[in-house]
Amino acid sequence: MAVKRDYYEVLGVKKGASAEEIKKAYRKMAIQYHPDKNPDDKKSEEKFKEANEAYETLSDEKKKSMYDQYGHAASNMGGGGQGPFGGGGFGDGANMNDIFGDIFGDIFGGGGRGGRRGGRRARAGADLETQVDITFEEAYKGVEKVINVNKRSDCDTCHGSGAKAGTQPETCKVCQGRGEVTFQQGFFAVSRPCTHCHGTGQVIANPCGTCRGAGKVKKNSQLSVTIPAGIDTGQRLKLTNEGEAGDQGGPPGDLYIAVNVLEHDFFRRDGAEVICDVPITFVQAALGAEIFVPTLDGKVEMKIPTGTQSHKVFRLKSKGLPHLGRGGRGDQLVRVLVEIPSKLSAEQIEVLRKFESLEKDGKSHPLHHGFFERVKRIFE
Ligand SMILES: [Zn+2]
Ligand SMILES: [Zn+2]
Repeated sequence: MAVKRDYYEVLGVKKGASAEEIKKAYRKMAIQYHPDKNPDDKKSEEKFKEANEAYETLSDEKKKSMYDQYGHAASNMGGGGQGPFGGGGFGDGANMNDIFGDIFGDIFGGGGRGGRRGGRRARAGADLETQVDITFEEAYKGVEKVINVNKRSDCDTCHGSGAKAGTQPETCKVCQGRGEVTFQQGFFAVSRPCTHCHGTGQVIANPCGTCRGAGKVKKNSQLSVTIPAGIDTGQRLKLTNEGEAGDQGGPPGDLYIAVNVLEHDFFRRDGAEVICDVPITFVQAALGAEIFVPTLDGKVEMKIPTGTQSHKVFRLKSKGLPHLGRGGRGDQLVRVLVEIPSKLSAEQIEVLRKFESLEKDGKSHPLHHGFFERVKRIFE
């Protein structure tokens, strides 16, 4: 299978490029490689298709954010409720908020998060980060986790208005609801936030008892998060709009989930490779043996060839962890450690002495023999 190229690489833009830069790069490529311009040119056709595919993802904010986190695996997620992301997002609710975010993006006219509406200050909610511990096996298989987040949310009693039930916030008389006051200073008209309503444009005469007029309370919410197989310690998942609530119609912040994969009894990892040390006896190493080795799929038989040296590494193909974002699995590396017996019975000692006396011209231990031959030549 051909390895899919990174979408940013395809369009020749940096990761984190703006929508405008992405559009520009795509337009350039589309013109250059358009089939009409390059008839019967397989290479151009390929490039044209590749650019189209890349642009399709990178021009769509939602697809792009999935791709930024999971790479090409993102395209296998979600959609028809199949992949690990169910309805196309993380857990329930998260994707609804994406739409929410889009709408606000339009209202504030590309001013990014926050911005102003009718002079009032719409403030985006704060981003939050929380950590989740998962086991090595969960990192291998992927897992659904329920996460508790204590976050500033809209007050249920007043639905975020801050006003007591049956009352409404009143328009600020000082700024007439604009949230700012303008005054003349010399030739200039200067605006500053209204101090009477703190820039909100509204004054709450009868505050809600639950939130004391803030409209927001700290609330515990539970979120279900799908953690993809292959994830490693230090990687973060981003749940768009699951952070703290925004003010004055501003969008919520995002929630980041920092994943910590717990240590395993005998597996370590290096990216998608699983590393495992297996002690064998020196007799097994010398004579060869069939041993059982633990893998993430259970025990497998592994052949130790005759004359295996300590610390030799054997590779078990595709027994490692899934590659996050590009399918397939890493390998498992089995390092055998030859154990030299530390306690011997009188009989064992006798057998070993006999064994040593049978060694002829260092043929059984060429390294050992050769080394001392050289020492002899140089020092004697
Ligand atoms: Zn005011
Ligand atoms: Zn309230």
